[in-house]
Amino acid sequence: MRFVSTRGGGAPLSLSDALSLGLAADGGLFVPEQFPQLVVLPAANQTLAQTAAAIIAPFFAGDALQDALTSICDDALNFVTPVVETRDPATQILELFHGPTAAFKDVGARFLAASFARLPQREDGQPLTILVATSGDTGGAVAAAFHQRPGFRVVVLYPDGRVSPRQAHQLACFGDNIRTFRVDGSFDDCQRMVKAAFANPELRAAVPLSSANSISLGRLLPQMSYYAQSALTHHARTGEPANYVIPTGNLGNALACLWARRLGLPIGEVQLATNANRVLPDYLASGRYAPQASVATLANAMDVGAPSNLERLTHWLPEIDDLRQTITARAVDDARLTAVMQQAETRWGHVVCPHTAAALAVIEDLRAAGDTRYWIAVATAHPAKFDSVVEPCIGHPVAVPPALAALLARPACAAPLSATDAALLEVLTASVTA
Ligand SMILES: *Cc1c(COP(=O)(O)O)cnc(C)c1O
Repeated sequence: MRFVSTRGGGAPLSLSDALSLGLAADGGLFVPEQFPQLVVLPAANQTLAQTAAAIIAPFFAGDALQDALTSICDDALNFVTPVVETRDPATQILELFHGPTAAFKDVGARFLAASFARLPQREDGQPLTILVATSGDTGGAVAAAFHQRPGFRVVVLYPDGRVSPRQAHQLACFGDNIRTFRVDGSFDDCQRMVKAAFANPELRAAVPLSSANSISLGRLLPQMSYYAQSALTHHARTGEPANYVIPTGNLGNALACLWARRLGLPIGEVQLATNANRVLPDYLASGRYAPQASVATLANAMDVGAPSNLERLTHWLPEIDDLRQTITARAVDDARLTAVMQQAETRWGHVVCPHTAAALAVIEDLRAAGDTRYWIAVATAHPAKFDSVVEPCIGHPVAVPPALAALLARPACAAPLSATDAALLEVLTASVTA
């Protein structure tokens, strides 16, 4: 299996090369040269790691990492992603928050780190700098996944004041080989700064850089595994494909679901829920893509005005009508997120984070329109990570899971950084000599 750029530039690359580069040389995103099909579906009721190894195998075929795939999956995917019942018998919740930083980003970040650790080390002995812009959850997951791994350094940028206090703490609590900066700007600024660094040839010659953002194949591929696992289980039980509602920002999680369906897994309808950043629903409605500056919402990990993985989607389905056949998307504003969080315990029997609330809002709308099918709402983060938003809605504290509590007990320190490409350049070049 080889990988090509969505923009068509450059020769096809191996998985290892595509992983370590992150972004293609022409600025495009890596996609498989030919999208694989599973000849035999994996068995239902296997562990997440077993399911992952089975469905990711075609993407690793022929690569230097092929024989390491099982151990990568075993290392990285050592926690559960259960599907739980709700008070609505036709609605279930896929809980993706049982990893070390209590958000689904742990799946991708840990797989990426476990893969990178098995790539050949650089001959010059320079560490690889993982550069990551985060709207809140990615940075913590990537920092946790690479913390104290020899040969790696992580530089995290997050928009100051736009992440929850617990997220901010978690982003900055690692130390050692992790450096965290609070940027005086939005998440889109952080993403732009990272892109500029990657596009800077002198910098790249001096500082070995790689990405860990949701455009990375190393994050996208393992995210297919929880869809595969839950869909296979659902299919074994009911004979039906599983339908999902996915809270969406940069489209990484959603694209993984669509790729899993494309592989041949029993996945039916996929509906996306955005927050008030409604670029995607507007695009599907009008056929015109109009990226916007992101607006701050309660579901901050989805505050994205220009979804980075959209390029993979439009490369696959250039015709807007094909795209409309493949996904639907609805925007959920803050007032509605608040209402859903307030009612979630009574209505569904679960306390949910604001992102998960967007998915439940879409399911509520479907039910109100008479839809009686089975739906799986994807829970992308633990509500305790967003206690400052969730607790005022529900009027009582949310218990903190032990892994999150351990991180919150560490001291935290983030340095300020202005939202300019030059400021990041200085940080990155200074760190070479530091
Ligand atoms: C990152 C994140 C999202 C959005 O996921 P994308 O892959 O960017 O669409 C949703 N919810 C939470 C909690 C997240 O951390």
